[in-house]
Amino acid sequence: MIQFFSYYSFLISFSFLCLSRPSFPARIKPDPSSTVTTVDSYNTTTWHDFTRFLDVGKGSQVSGMSELKKYFNRFGYLPIPDTNNFTDTFDTQFESVVLAYQTNLGLPETGKLDFDTISMIVLPRCGVSDTKTHDTRFQAKKRFAYFYGRPRWMRQAPVILTYAFSQNNMIDYISIKDTRKVFKRAFSRWAQVIPVSFMEIEDYPSADIRIGFYHRDHGDGKPFDGVLGILAHAFSPENGRFHLDASETWALDLEKIKSRVAVDLESVATHEIGHLLGLAHSSVKEAVMYPSLSPRTKKVDLKIDDVDGVQALYGSNPNFKFSSLLVSDNSFNKGIGLRNSRSSKWTISLVLGVSTLFLCT
Ligand SMILES: [Zn+2]
Ligand SMILES: [Zn+2]
Repeated sequence: MIQFFSYYSFLISFSFLCLSRPSFPARIKPDPSSTVTTVDSYNTTTWHDFTRFLDVGKGSQVSGMSELKKYFNRFGYLPIPDTNNFTDTFDTQFESVVLAYQTNLGLPETGKLDFDTISMIVLPRCGVSDTKTHDTRFQAKKRFAYFYGRPRWMRQAPVILTYAFSQNNMIDYISIKDTRKVFKRAFSRWAQVIPVSFMEIEDYPSADIRIGFYHRDHGDGKPFDGVLGILAHAFSPENGRFHLDASETWALDLEKIKSRVAVDLESVATHEIGHLLGLAHSSVKEAVMYPSLSPRTKKVDLKIDDVDGVQALYGSNPNFKFSSLLVSDNSFNKGIGLRNSRSSKWTISLVLGVSTLFLCT
């Protein structure tokens, strides 16, 4: 135990030392052809600052709490107040917001900004709101959900949805050939379970699903936010817009990219296609439709929850067997993120200390 605390103290001290070092350029463009080390800092990414609200409870007033309220507003939990400004007070309304978030994310429902909750808040995630608007209440049961009105693609069978890439909004460090392969695989995962197929076409404006990478404000009222934070968003049926944050370090193969903030492109693509088909966020942590994703994590296999949700909309692909879901589970975490692991519940500071240690070596 003494050794543990010595190590802990060392990490924290080391973190501060590292933080005081001169800063490096934010990003180096990844080169998928070779092993690349980037110097981007986890500690400067979107939402990292929210870690300071750990254990803040009802009745407290902490400077900057209004920013955390804006976060919850962005994801559908808290309306903008009549005064147009959020306060820094942790009031009763905010407690119910925290509770709703915990229910939706499958976390222990404490109504407090505890370790599990803060760890989840700072993780990168999808930009689509968590609110289950098909019901005025948040769901009590952990499972899949739909958008308001339960929209789906209303086409005559056989349903074939076309998709296209916006040629002017691609990322230059991943070839179009490789990008095509990733999205083809992601679409095929859904096509295997429902009687819907997907076909790539060249004509972007006429495609059902239109894919592009965008920086910051890109004209749809849902701006991206730089490294990590929001990773992507897609719109419910039959809109078809599918946008990814061009500021992320997108990875085809996590073995080849060393960046601590690399995000697996196929995992995010698979998740967003779920939205395009009509699924909202699931509260099942293992599901592809769970809203957050740690950096350096691959999560591409549909789980029973995802399949149940999408098949309730479209029916089952006649060739699909549920037993095939049990064959493989390639969800794994190669990263350092702030995953909600029972075995690593020391403190957020320790996790951040370790993160910084990696970044500084
Ligand atoms: Zn999402
Ligand atoms: Zn967008």
